[in-house]
Amino acid sequence: MESEGGRVLFDCGLFQGERALRRRNWQPLGVPPERIDAVVLTHGHIDHSGWLPRLVREGFRGPILTSPPTADLLGLLLYDSAKCQMEDAEYANRKGYSKHHPALPLYEEHDVDQTLRQVEVVDRETWFETCSDVRCRLHDAGHMLGSSYVEVEVNAPGRPQRLIVSGDVGRYDAPLYNDPLPPPPCDVLICESTYGDRDHSQVDPLDELEKIVNEAVKRGGLLLAASFAVGRTQQLVYLLRILIASGRIPELPIWIDSPMAVEATHVFRRHAHEHDLSEAHEEGVAEALSAPWVRMTKSAEASKAINHEEGPGVVIASSGMMTGGRILHHLKRRLPDPRTTVLVTGFQAKGTRGRTLLDGNPTLRIHGRDIPVKAAVRRLDGLSGHADRHEIVRWLTGMPAPAQVFLVHGEPTAARGMAKQLETSFGWKATIPAIGDSFEIGDAAAAP
Ligand SMILES: [Zn+2]
Repeated sequence: MESEGGRVLFDCGLFQGERALRRRNWQPLGVPPERIDAVVLTHGHIDHSGWLPRLVREGFRGPILTSPPTADLLGLLLYDSAKCQMEDAEYANRKGYSKHHPALPLYEEHDVDQTLRQVEVVDRETWFETCSDVRCRLHDAGHMLGSSYVEVEVNAPGRPQRLIVSGDVGRYDAPLYNDPLPPPPCDVLICESTYGDRDHSQVDPLDELEKIVNEAVKRGGLLLAASFAVGRTQQLVYLLRILIASGRIPELPIWIDSPMAVEATHVFRRHAHEHDLSEAHEEGVAEALSAPWVRMTKSAEASKAINHEEGPGVVIASSGMMTGGRILHHLKRRLPDPRTTVLVTGFQAKGTRGRTLLDGNPTLRIHGRDIPVKAAVRRLDGLSGHADRHEIVRWLTGMPAPAQVFLVHGEPTAARGMAKQLETSFGWKATIPAIGDSFEIGDAAAAP
């Protein structure tokens, strides 16, 4: 956003999914990075934060302003992202399957070092300046630990303009997080639309998970759960613990094949007031993560040792959309085995391996090879961190009509679905911008 006083960037994510999209990660930003005054970061997910080290590498030197838990998680997420990219590039070079010679990482660990030095923590509900005529404050969005939406006030000529930048909006009554706070009135609403054409199933994730695990046990092989290390893994282990404790599933070995998941749990514990688990519940998570049937595998050797396991058992590894990480090695080995069950959790972007599996593709391409899919593929819907169509409407209910509404962060059908719903529910006309579009806001927008 550009004003008289300067420029502020809201979020700076990595493109994930289809190759055409991922290629955009290599294109320069529309604005020279050194001319951006500040970045306001809504939350730590890589599709919102993962391009920051590249931005810094290309010359951004301003502050990255975000909530305390997001600042705490950011190091974990960005170092992991850097590592994945360095490994992928290295692997591609070793196996010679990349079209680029040599394949290069988008950024490296030292770029993350510098990025983290530019992070400045801001408390929620507190105004802070990003440049002389713009101030912002963060409100809990309930989407993941630390997630916020941004209220922006631009001291524009005429009268101040208020914007809401939704980031990702969370759900109501989600297992781990607070409900999203109701947004204040605004002139311009920029809202996500990830699930804009859908509603989540009303099934209790505990019931769903119970069924999936018992089926997997009957099938006899391992259950491979592709999961984000931060948030989703803690939710999964916690739900498994409840199921085991209540005798709804047998006591199984559970491998958390992710050093990051352990670290993330510490961050959850440090910010107890940021999620709605009671103290007892919080202890429950910690206990679950150290119970005798939960095995942490930090080293690559320990991870490889899982190859010798026959099952039944559960392996939780990242990444959630199977775009990288240790899950790929397990998939490569176990997908051709009909005793295997693959559990897909959370949103799967078009073009990701997670989506390909859900679409029922008979093979899956991993590290340049087409692996036959004989495993059973199941999805667990109840843990999505994103508000669905009706939860977005619930979030916006009571807000006076903004002068301008923009829908972002959704695939085209989802964004159109959300636009239709906003029109039906509130009579609002929403714009779905294309990448590179620019818009005037405030009185200039209304001028003939
Ligand atoms: Zn997110």
